[in-house]
Amino acid sequence: MMRFSHERLETFLSQFRRLIECESPSSDPRALAASAALVAGIGEELTGVRPRVRTVEGFPHVRFDLGTGPRRILLLGHHDTVWPRGTLASMPFSAENGMVRGPGADDMKGGILIALHAIALLRAFAGEDLLDGVSVLITADEELGSPTSRPLIESLSAGAEAVLVFESGGASGEVKIARKGVAIYEFEAVGRAAHAGVEPEKGVNATVELAHQVLRIAQLGAPELGTSVVPAVVHSGTTTNTVPARGTLAVDSRAESVAEQERVDASLRALTAVVPGARLVLHGGINRPPLEDLSSLPLLGRAQQIAEALDHPPVRPLRVGGGSDANFAAGVGALTLDGLGTVGGGSHADDEHALIEWIPRRVELVAGLLGSLLEDPLPHH
Ligand SMILES: [Zn+2]
Repeated sequence: MMRFSHERLETFLSQFRRLIECESPSSDPRALAASAALVAGIGEELTGVRPRVRTVEGFPHVRFDLGTGPRRILLLGHHDTVWPRGTLASMPFSAENGMVRGPGADDMKGGILIALHAIALLRAFAGEDLLDGVSVLITADEELGSPTSRPLIESLSAGAEAVLVFESGGASGEVKIARKGVAIYEFEAVGRAAHAGVEPEKGVNATVELAHQVLRIAQLGAPELGTSVVPAVVHSGTTTNTVPARGTLAVDSRAESVAEQERVDASLRALTAVVPGARLVLHGGINRPPLEDLSSLPLLGRAQQIAEALDHPPVRPLRVGGGSDANFAAGVGALTLDGLGTVGGGSHADDEHALIEWIPRRVELVAGLLGSLLEDPLPHH
């Protein structure tokens, strides 16, 4: 049985400190370059593989390819954080009372190390050959919605037998099996201006048009299926004494299934103007597809078997509203399991922390899961 030794935990914690103390806000290319170099160096020590750093529009994505065979399993993480440079002054690294704190502790500098240490542990116990076909991709723009890494994530995921994602787990060690898909729209209503006092009948009122649409759109949700459609920001008109010629309405929609995401999309595209003479133009669309549990359940089952064999607490599933890069991996058809990173809390908040007692369990679970998937692949998805 692969166990994560105390010596390995000491190494993990010293690397954790170096990663947290190398601040890496998504919007700072110089900070990201330094962080990518650090991830590359630590990763090379642990995987035995020299990484390639691919910088796209200032975002350095770090990739490790183990072995030379076809790519089989992708371990996916990100090294950017939501914290601006200078955050360390008020939120310094600490490892006390069983917790590691600091910017990115839980989202997801600890997750990167769990992935890399799982590979190191598996190498030590099973040898290099078993790991042929494993890739690790640590991106630099996840917190921005992955604008430059998305094609890389999708191309590596499309052919993979499994994608393991290292966002933090639930508070009791749950893994994430479903994330809602996100769609963002903007309706533009085009009317005609006229003097509101002198000849209002000559105008076509964009505000009235949007009012009709707001009430229609608000009916499109399906709460029982987890689908929300929220008419949000409205801007319309210029001055009180002018019939508004133009207005816009922003809409946020979230759905648990591709079918629901497509139903809402089609319904929004089918809306037509109500006010005579007005026109409706729809901008935007589906941003992230949902991570559906169908994409995760076979991997969850395998992870639960491994946890039991390791005598760990049971691995329970969790469904969440927000998206991650797991949505993109599942969107191209890959079996995908998320939430394999640290167990802690406070992501994007001042009390961000990772629990030290969970680190050995997480590394052992991922090493066991990875070894099992390589030796005994899941049936094709
Ligand atoms: Zn994250």
